[in-house]
Amino acid sequence: MHTSLQDLIASRDSFLLTGHENPDGDCLGAETALYHLLKALGKQVAIVNPDPLGHPFDFLAEKTPFSFATADSPLPKFDVAVLLDCCQLSRTGVLASRLRSSGATIAVIDHHVGSDRGDGTVCFVDPKAAATGALVRRLYKAFGVPLPLVAAEGVFLSLVMDTGWFRYSNTDVEVLSMAAELVGLGVDSSRIYDAIYRRMHPETAAMMAACLSRHELRLSGKLALVPIDKHLYERASHIDFDTDLVIDPLRSLLGVEVVAILKERFDGTVKVSMRAKGDVDVQRIASTFGGGGHKKAAGAAIPGGLAAAVPALEARVQQAIAETR
Ligand code: AMP
Ligand code: MN
Ligand code: MN
Repeated sequence: MHTSLQDLIASRDSFLLTGHENPDGDCLGAETALYHLLKALGKQVAIVNPDPLGHPFDFLAEKTPFSFATADSPLPKFDVAVLLDCCQLSRTGVLASRLRSSGATIAVIDHHVGSDRGDGTVCFVDPKAAATGALVRRLYKAFGVPLPLVAAEGVFLSLVMDTGWFRYSNTDVEVLSMAAELVGLGVDSSRIYDAIYRRMHPETAAMMAACLSRHELRLSGKLALVPIDKHLYERASHIDFDTDLVIDPLRSLLGVEVVAILKERFDGTVKVSMRAKGDVDVQRIASTFGGGGHKKAAGAAIPGGLAAAVPALEARVQQAIAETR
């Protein structure tokens, strides 16, 4: 399935690895693992993201060189740009136009629905894979390269981030057997957990309370929605607050089928993050706003402020719930 990507890797010398804006643990873990695979194959490789490593993931930089681009920072030389955990250049923020005009081949390694129809000319896409990092693990096997511990930690990070530490419905045989293999290679799962979740800013609890206190139950309690206005979003950004933290308590509520966090960003758009509990397909809802994702976790950017985004989203969730029955 990924022979064309294998051929591309084998035939080119220099690679730039990147991913979506505000890279999450899957994106960063997959980049880490791919970086060390390409190095083992004797390639020139650099990781350049549209944003810096978030505080929870800064431990990765101890063993792998991460960098991020600004609008005019010089980029290293590259024949191939690899997009991980996304498939559209438009999701790479400040890098988008520079990658588009670079003349380099765009390769995509991703597990989102429809990612084989993005900007990649060479794609390794499997929407059944729980995480992009799992695809990079498969690439190691294809090349017959043994997984070093640093790459094993990257793949493990990808798996736990995108399965919610093995709680979500994408936790399958591949995930659990791969995780066992990675722990066998020396991955210390509780050390990784502590690095991500036990070093939060002291104001995190207050921020969590502020966000949760704003939650609204709509559509007879089927939709739990958290509007985060510019002011609150600024406070949240200031302490590197991960708004995902408010999703789980809301998803736990009896009757809730969709959780939506709406963040009013400074660029004049509202970033929507949706998570489904039952059978509602939030990827389809996100796609009506030009976004995407998975059936149970999806996102989009809606132009305009919260006042317009909230009713627009509610209407589409209502329609999706009606269609699900
Ligand atoms: P998030 O809510 O940002 O954590 O994203 C949930 C899922 O939806 C992830 O798999 C994202 O990659 C995907 N996603 C988020 N925003 C977008 C977007 N604007 N376009 C396409 N996919 C998205
Ligand atoms: Mn992601
Ligand atoms: Mn992912």
